[in-house]
Amino acid sequence: MVELEHTRELMKSMGLTTAAELLDARLEDASHRELTYLDFLGELLDTEHQERRRRSEETRIKLSRLPNRKTLEEFDFSFQPSIDPRKIKELSTLAFAARNENVVFLGPPGVGKTHLAVGLAMQALRNGMTVYFVTLPQFIADLRKASIQGRLERRWRVYLRPDILIVDEVGYMQLDRESAELLFRLICSRYETGSIILTSNKRFSEWGELMSDTVIATATLDRLLHHAHVINIRGETYRLKDRLKIGVQMVPPADIPALEKPAKE
Ligand code: ADP
Ligand code: MG
Repeated sequence: MVELEHTRELMKSMGLTTAAELLDARLEDASHRELTYLDFLGELLDTEHQERRRRSEETRIKLSRLPNRKTLEEFDFSFQPSIDPRKIKELSTLAFAARNENVVFLGPPGVGKTHLAVGLAMQALRNGMTVYFVTLPQFIADLRKASIQGRLERRWRVYLRPDILIVDEVGYMQLDRESAELLFRLICSRYETGSIILTSNKRFSEWGELMSDTVIATATLDRLLHHAHVINIRGETYRLKDRLKIGVQMVPPADIPALEKPAKE
């Protein structure tokens, strides 16, 4: 079948790789099901299109460096009543990202800040957006290294380009002057040009201390919060949910408070 081979080669050269691979099977299927030409073509192109979307999503997920692939569907809102599910639902429409607004999750360790940030990111990736995930200590270490190696400006692009940048774990580490300036520059540079999802265990009133400078902290928060959705999570750590349950049954109550301060992951 010279025509078949020729057609397949044409499809491949045009980048329709999935359709080219499926051509034989789909032709046979079309004749069995007595499909019209239009239905046959429509189905074949649909499959190609879906496969491309899937591959593109997979590539963007990998490039995003997310620590896991948790979704918003997996989040148990009944465990964390301080979060209004409607607010998360509204964020999951991604209108915030289209408007270059920020999202800030605040709360103690284990309450689901990273999970919600990743969940929103997965939603964005599903919808064709680009995401990059970094913890604040990683970001600082990365840019310092780039600075020493003389490729600081190029490295900045990694953090400025994605539609959504997740800056996780702000607050566990106190920042020296140089680090505070890097964070300030990051938030200024993305201000009104790209979204940030930031998570922190610190209240905003503690940022002066965190950044070792109240003037820089005020200027940073000013940009970060100008167009921002702040979600304050109060409540129990989910990490110890089951241990606490077991604890109630197995150890005297006096031992339970010791479990409430988990070692950081
Ligand atoms: P944080 O970033 O606030 O320290 P994480 O998002 O890392 O907390 O949550 C800790 C662990 O508990 C993760 O495995 C996360 O998926 C899970 N988790 C936290 N809250 C919930 C929840 N309400 N429903 C389902 N899983 C949760
Ligand atoms: Mg976290």
